[in-house]
Amino acid sequence: MTGEEAAAWSHDAFCGAIEAGEPFYLACPEGHGSVPPRRVCPDCGAQSLTDRPLPETGRVQASTVVHVATAAFAESAPYVTAIADFGPVSLTGVVTETPPEEVEYGTEVTVGIERTDERARPTLVFEPK
Ligand SMILES: [Zn+2]
Repeated sequence: MTGEEAAAWSHDAFCGAIEAGEPFYLACPEGHGSVPPRRVCPDCGAQSLTDRPLPETGRVQASTVVHVATAAFAESAPYVTAIADFGPVSLTGVVTETPPEEVEYGTEVTVGIERTDERARPTLVFEPK
């Protein structure tokens, strides 16, 4: 693996690709999917990971409503934290602009990135389609 590839698979690059409208995931030769940062496949340990386009939409598999949030998310509470199935990979994100009762098992979502002054790191967000 070259240094350039490793940099391209950082969490920041992953968020940047989502913002650019070109989200990707990492696939190993066995077909397992994972998301950055990764150097090896978490399922089989393969070290040859290739970036592939992420499916455009995913479906909520699990969700929970957060009523008491950390300071960085206080303005958004109550909000939903969800795990969404995007085919080869599952992503964990928050649904900030949607009433919690509108998020349920199977809700179709797109993925985006939200940056605010209160949060040091970009936040993975889901938007119901
Ligand atoms: Zn694998």
